[in-house]
Amino acid sequence: MDSMTKTAALPRIHQLDTEVANQIAAGEVIERPASVVKELVENSIDAAATRINIDVERAGVSLIRVSDDGQGIHKDDLSLALSPHATSKLSVLSDLGQIVSLGFRGEALPSIASVSKFLLTSRLHTDDQAWCINNEKKTMPAAHEQGTTVEIHDLFYSVPARRKFLKSERTEFLHIKAILKAIALGHSSIAFSFNHNQEKVFHFVASGNNPEHRINDILGNSFIRDAIAINHERDDMVLQGWLGMPEQTRSHNDRQYFFINGRLIQDKHINHAIKLAYADQIPTGRFACYVLYLQIDPARIDINVHPAKSEVRFTDTRNVHDFIYAALAVAFNGQKTLSYT
Ligand code: ADP
Ligand code: MG
Repeated sequence: MDSMTKTAALPRIHQLDTEVANQIAAGEVIERPASVVKELVENSIDAAATRINIDVERAGVSLIRVSDDGQGIHKDDLSLALSPHATSKLSVLSDLGQIVSLGFRGEALPSIASVSKFLLTSRLHTDDQAWCINNEKKTMPAAHEQGTTVEIHDLFYSVPARRKFLKSERTEFLHIKAILKAIALGHSSIAFSFNHNQEKVFHFVASGNNPEHRINDILGNSFIRDAIAINHERDDMVLQGWLGMPEQTRSHNDRQYFFINGRLIQDKHINHAIKLAYADQIPTGRFACYVLYLQIDPARIDINVHPAKSEVRFTDTRNVHDFIYAALAVAFNGQKTLSYT
């Protein structure tokens, strides 16, 4: 190759237009319809909703509609909500150390809007008029109660490659249901209704800050009845919840719920601590059921490490690991003493 051809073949660097950049970002955040549902419901929770309705058709491919009675969005902010890196939840980097909201990156709505037919309708509690905005970022008057509705049709219509990777309607539906149940377990003070293909899948009434009622709704009455309650506190950490007993093991790990500050988290160090505490109470090939809520100072975790925010990094992993192990060991020991007396 002479130097002329080399120069001609070398692609030059150019800035991607916003639409393409959003679609690429969507690839990370929006893996499947369930990820869209998760992002939208988390936005409703961040908006202090007390009631969230989720309507889905064809497992989210033809319709996902999430409605809430939360604080709403200012009319003049509607178009910003659809712009990348636009958020009301943080302003400076140091805010990340104190994040208590589920979202903070400002990328979900623009990503979702770039791969679907999108309509956002919202009414502020101080307003008597609602407004909506579509993909073209046109703001129009609309009818809506206080709160917000995001309606998405034809998910991934603009990225057929992504559509091809979707599993059957049944599988995608089960992913949505599983994610909604997990979110509902983490937020018992919010009422959730979920309909699929216009049929009711579940309706969970709000049950205050005590998750017991919600856990009964989701895991059945026998879970809490037979489980060990745990409530352990050290320094600035509190671990509460219920530990399923050996008779309640399952063939899958689908009932292992661990929440950190209300967010469902997968963490290998935490899993390790829990496994270690259960030790040989769980036969090989079986999985314990548990629902555990860890409250920890947000400054001691970094939540900005995973596209779906389902993992965290701890400033002191060892300390958290040992705290969880000790909390479970105390709970199991208490149980032994009780049953022997
Ligand atoms: P993030 O949640 O990371 O801030 P999103 O793209 O999910 O980013 O949402 C952008 C912004 O739109 C949010 O910061 C919030 O101000 C607003 N918003 C989104 N959904 C809702 C909702 N259901 N109710 C009120 N405000 C919302
Ligand atoms: Mg969000």
